[in-house]
Amino acid sequence: MTKITLIPVLNDNYAYLIETDTVTAIVDPGEAQPVIDALEAKGKTLDLILNTHHHGDHIAGNEALVKKYGARLIGPAAEVKRIDGMDKTVAEGDHFDIGNEPVDVFETPGHTSGHIVFHLPQAKALFSGDTLFSMGCGRLFEGTPDQMWQSLQKIMTLPDDTQIYCGHEYTKANGTFCLNIEPDNGDLKQRVDDVIALREAGQPTLPVTLGKEKKTNVFLRAGSAQRFAEIRAAKDAA
Ligand code: ZN
Ligand code: FE
Repeated sequence: MTKITLIPVLNDNYAYLIETDTVTAIVDPGEAQPVIDALEAKGKTLDLILNTHHHGDHIAGNEALVKKYGARLIGPAAEVKRIDGMDKTVAEGDHFDIGNEPVDVFETPGHTSGHIVFHLPQAKALFSGDTLFSMGCGRLFEGTPDQMWQSLQKIMTLPDDTQIYCGHEYTKANGTFCLNIEPDNGDLKQRVDDVIALREAGQPTLPVTLGKEKKTNVFLRAGSAQRFAEIRAAKDAA
């Protein structure tokens, strides 16, 4: 049975440890030491590093983890020049395995031009990096609203019971913004209440199901690229 463990790194990033039958992988290690601590507590070593995009808060731990464990690094083909030491590049439609766990790769440009997400259909998990957040989406540093809308549409085709593991704990602030857009959305009000309670208890708000995001995330609910662009602009100005 595959186990996924959330590891807080830096200020508000999450790295995710994936333990399959034979292989241990980490997604987006923005920092090495918390990952090493988690591995040592489990008596495990690291086989594989997965990167969603080139930003430092997602890759800065790569080098130390490769040095310590000899882990292989898999990342987006479109960002191979911006991430040091990639052993394998992947792109839209590529498949690989983490032990007994199949992985599908989707390109989701917008936040960065080469951003990818990793879908594990058997584990019902999506590692969405800075493309999709709970009740939010990534800022458009290297892409257009149209591109990001298309990227989110790809994610929307996944099953509703897919668990979303995203790159940051931005959920509470995102929820406040979503309530400004949809003040009468009952599912959204409930999710924001739940999120506030989780944060007060010092708990993460992730993972969250795609089904719940479809009911609460105003970016997924925009309905058109044009409306998405308006909402993204309003969030950037907030
Ligand atoms: Zn980023
Ligand atoms: Fe980030």
